[in-house]
Amino acid sequence: MSKEYLDFYEYVKHNKLGSVFKDESLKKYCTLKIGGKCYILYKPNSIGSLIKAYKFILTNKLDYIVIGNGSNLLISDEYHSKIFICLKNLNKIMLNETTLVLETGVMGNIISKKMSDLSLSGLEFLAGIPGTIGGMIYMNAGAWGKQVSDVLESITYLDEFGKVCEMKNIKIKGFSYRKSPFMKRHVIILSCTINLKYDITSINIYNNYLEKKKLTQPLNTYNAGSTFKNPPNNSAWKLIKDTVGNISVEDALVSTVHANFLINKKNATFNDMKTLITTIQDEVLKKHHILLEPEWVIIE
Ligand SMILES: Cc1cc2nc3c(=O)[nH]c(=O)nc-3n(C[C@H](O)[C@H](O)[C@H](O)COP(=O)(O)OP(=O)(O)OC[C@H]3O[C@@H](n4cnc5c(N)ncnc54)[C@H](O)[C@@H]3O)c2cc1C
Repeated sequence: MSKEYLDFYEYVKHNKLGSVFKDESLKKYCTLKIGGKCYILYKPNSIGSLIKAYKFILTNKLDYIVIGNGSNLLISDEYHSKIFICLKNLNKIMLNETTLVLETGVMGNIISKKMSDLSLSGLEFLAGIPGTIGGMIYMNAGAWGKQVSDVLESITYLDEFGKVCEMKNIKIKGFSYRKSPFMKRHVIILSCTINLKYDITSINIYNNYLEKKKLTQPLNTYNAGSTFKNPPNNSAWKLIKDTVGNISVEDALVSTVHANFLINKKNATFNDMKTLITTIQDEVLKKHHILLEPEWVIIE
């Protein structure tokens, strides 16, 4: 590992900017449980610490990638010569009447339940989605016809120069189905503001969504949610089921519960999963003339 990365490790330790690990396995940080080791894994303990650490990274031109709960990631088995910044510990929640401010690492499924318990409605559709709110904003996560950009009032983020910025008027800022404007940039989402509405039936809506999810998705497996985006007016799972059924490559399998969920049974490698993905894409293209686009973020 080069000196600058070791200096970063020492800088974080010395200034108590959070936890930091060398040669850390990335399997622990993603729900698919696939991935090699990285130079450094850094978990900031506050937004202030992250800002200081990020300035060090920018000044020294270190390579980095931001992750939340790793619930939409396929990570290669290679050694990753960079810093992985995991934001799960930035998880403060501030509620003022119906206005909710969340730090980036707050889990979507947990806040959804908490708000529904308080009869505060708006986030029920996140029931059972195991991502951080920052990851959900980046991916524009959604379910049951709703997506995160529908409920956001504003977002704060660290831009490419380490400056804290605010984004308002979310509806006109380039969010669409599983797309956010952050995908074209190298920024770090810090927090967001969401306006909720008082609704006594919120918990029923939440329970209904969660039950449906439990019945239709293999939630207790190593997976990363839907592998492919749904093509316009079609469903990826139907195309996969119709074309290849429940095929597998070693321990990488198409789920029998939901064909758009690819599962790591136990010891699937990155290459097993990549081969399964490309086989599905090739076969669906041949039979239906549709190219399935991965929803997963693939880190080579
Ligand atoms: C069982 C299961 C069910 C799921 N169901 C759904 C569903 O119904 N709908 C849906 O849309 N998704 C679903 N997903 C996928 C996943 O939970 C979402 O995509 C979620 O938004 C990912 O959040 P994360 O924190 O895990 O992000 P990660 O997977 O860690 O990261 C995803 C991307 O976001 C970037 N990123 C993460 N945090 C930040 C940040 N703070 N700033 C900048 N970039 C950031 C990462 O660099 C990466 O490119 C499901 C996943 C699982 C395992």
